[in-house]
Amino acid sequence: MPTPIHCWIFDLDGTLTLAQHDFAGFKQAHGLPLDTPILEGIALAPPATRAELLKSVDAWEAGLATESQPAPDAQRLLPILETARVPMAVLTRNTRANALVSLAATGLARYFPEPLVIGRDEFAPKPSPDGVRGLLSLMGHVDPRTALMVGDHIDDVRSGHAAGTYSALLRRAESVASPPPPADVVISALDELLETFEPR
Ligand SMILES: [Mg+2]
Repeated sequence: MPTPIHCWIFDLDGTLTLAQHDFAGFKQAHGLPLDTPILEGIALAPPATRAELLKSVDAWEAGLATESQPAPDAQRLLPILETARVPMAVLTRNTRANALVSLAATGLARYFPEPLVIGRDEFAPKPSPDGVRGLLSLMGHVDPRTALMVGDHIDDVRSGHAAGTYSALLRRAESVASPPPPADVVISALDELLETFEPR
């Protein structure tokens, strides 16, 4: 029996869109630690350089946002969720402004009302559960056990799990036999979610 899910929260880059960010290349070019995510790496940089580094990230991501391409499996799943009339939201470590550009470029904007697109400046970024909690509250104080967080990074899974929702890890490129904790399920395409979860 599929688990009924009312609220569907998606990571953006590499989940709803095809992956295009060369994070390692950006870190290398800007002298950031390769083993630390970019935002956390910037937080470790000398205070005088942080503002400039954040500006560079914004500019780099803004350029990429205009070139975003929709993932074909997102194009298959989202109309099904729309027909089921369940609320859908985006939670990204990118900025909200870039996310809106990216959603427009991919043609996926119609599925996500603007207030339900949350970036790194609205709440503490993933893996913090704050963004997931904020979205559940915006969607009408939804019970986390009727919500799902989906993303292609373990931090997506961690943010959902810490907020008490179900979580799914998307691995398009490599296969993973069993869900790494704390993911409830691993999928290789977004529409596989419907084998485990039911929009309701
Ligand atoms: Mg991602």
